[in-house]
Amino acid sequence: MIRALYPGTFDPMHNGHIDIAQRAASIFDELVIGVYDAPPKKLLFNTEERVALVRQALAHLPNCSIVSFTGLTVECARSIDAGVIVRGLRNVADFEFEYQIGLANRKMAPEIELCCLVSSTEYIYLSSTIVKEVAGLDGDISAWVHPLIAQAMAARIAENRAGGPSANLPAQKGVTKTRGKLTHHG
Ligand code: ADP
Repeated sequence: MIRALYPGTFDPMHNGHIDIAQRAASIFDELVIGVYDAPPKKLLFNTEERVALVRQALAHLPNCSIVSFTGLTVECARSIDAGVIVRGLRNVADFEFEYQIGLANRKMAPEIELCCLVSSTEYIYLSSTIVKEVAGLDGDISAWVHPLIAQAMAARIAENRAGGPSANLPAQKGVTKTRGKLTHHG
């Protein structure tokens, strides 16, 4: 039984991420999405919200669960007993980044393999940054994200414009943010 971890910021998850998750879920017995609990200041969605959106976007994958984590990705992988870390590659810049981090990770955790899946051609240009920029300028992002994520983004952008606090996303139970701790959301 091989469990794989697909870590990322996922702010928000888009169709390029979903494509990688679907393909990884078909390769490995279990796929765990690791939502990095990054400082919220530059993010559109906080950790609980990103976890909720990933859960909605990947609800069709029965062997997929979700955790949030802080600290080293390899420690997250170890704590959930994942033997493989999955990442997506769009271009040479992604490759150079993943290659360097992959070697550092192997030094720290030689028992964990890295599996990089090359982006499907239709998503090669896609990033969370592009999706947020286009949505923020009232462009159509429906081809790039799950409909529920498009809806959540529209709500969040409207809130931000109104200067109000976020309140339009489902509250998630059981998400903790303690450094070094993991919370399962599967
Ligand atoms: P991070 O901050 O870890 O890079 P992201 O959410 O931006 O988090 O990306 C998570 C993973 O998904 C990374 O491995 C990234 O290269 C990959 N990824 C992002 N966009 C795409 C895409 N369009 N196609 C394939 N993989 C992608």
